Amino acid sequence: MQWLHKPLLILWKGVIKGLIEKLICKGKCRNKPTTCRYAIITMPHIYIHIPFCKSKCSYCDFFSVASEKLKNEFVEALCIEIANRKSDTDNKIKTVYFGGGTPSLLSKHELNNIFVALEENFSIEPDAEITLEANPDDITPEKLMFWKSIGINRLSIGLQSFDDDELKYLGRRHNVSDSKKALENALNTGFNNISADIIHGIPGADLNKLLTGIEYLDKTGAAHLSMYSLTIEKGTILENKIKKGLAENIDEDEQAETYMRSVEKAEACGFLQYEISNFCKPGFESKHNSAYWKGVPYLGFGPAAHSFSGKKRMWNISSIQDYISGIKNKTPVTEHEKLSKNDIYNEFLLTRLRMINGIQLKEMRELFGNTITENLINKINKTIKPQHIQISESAIVLTRPGIMFADKIISDLMI
Ligand code: SF4
Repeated sequence: MQWLHKPLLILWKGVIKGLIEKLICKGKCRNKPTTCRYAIITMPHIYIHIPFCKSKCSYCDFFSVASEKLKNEFVEALCIEIANRKSDTDNKIKTVYFGGGTPSLLSKHELNNIFVALEENFSIEPDAEITLEANPDDITPEKLMFWKSIGINRLSIGLQSFDDDELKYLGRRHNVSDSKKALENALNTGFNNISADIIHGIPGADLNKLLTGIEYLDKTGAAHLSMYSLTIEKGTILENKIKKGLAENIDEDEQAETYMRSVEKAEACGFLQYEISNFCKPGFESKHNSAYWKGVPYLGFGPAAHSFSGKKRMWNISSIQDYISGIKNKTPVTEHEKLSKNDIYNEFLLTRLRMINGIQLKEMRELFGNTITENLINKINKTIKPQHIQISESAIVLTRPGIMFADKIISDLMI
């Protein structure tokens, strides 16, 4: 019977053990595909990139073009990409996020076609969070009614500032009065999950206008606030202007002060901080963005959109023309890279330390083991100032002063 042992052993190791473990696991660890060898490919979140804008804002380095010439062809290609990739995930979609660019530039017909493609190819949960980024100058009562009727239930409105001169500095097309009208119209149409995008730390900015702006958002009924520091990105109009002495540069100390005061104001207005730059009324965290920060896999469609499977990162080509012709001619439009263990670890630090709950040690031990977790704790004790980070029995979190140095602290802890 000796001859029977080897094949049986192979069968046990290769198939039966796997099946038993899979049955026991039942996909409970779906959100941790980095560790579970039996995890099903679950990408329950969809990002759709709409790469068109009416004009380019001075600070913007997102992939978008200031022309709508290829919009129709792009929507056709996008719908084909959605259909081609329907087997990329095997479970229900919990969030869809239209980002850009300017998704609010899509016509009714174009948006309708994209929704049809999504519904035909994916199973979207009835209570899925469906967000559309919108610019105030595109928001009309008619568009709002249509967006609501089609199933969009969350708007992320790019207000950016409560001062017309600052909006000019940013190269925005709208003014403060447009912002207020857009926000109030959206609330009157029945959108109760509205996020306002704000940029702080604009040179010479009026802090009082920002603080009263946050109070206005609270009183009006915005549910979420994304507040990012102005950064000068390479190749932007703003960088060019600053180099030529035509625009003022940012002052980091002023930005730090503005951030602290705005966080205090947001909290006083009942917005809870759940990520370095994100605040919400209770229960109104962005489900979509929270998924990114928790390392949950997602699918991305459209030029320059990224997808993440837990072990691999994929990204579409950053050219609208090449994207359209690639999809039509069935040539690849996606590149990918397999993430190394170090990449996965670094990404874990980056995303979790930006969250106000920080790194949950139980999760870290499950994902990376006790030794790596203890090594991180030792490294923090040796290299990071105690007033910048707190280690408790259950979590590692940045303190409020530590948040001001988050980028530096995270990069020091990476391997
Ligand atoms: S900031 Fe938004 S609206 Fe302005 S150019 Fe960039 S993507 Fe377009």
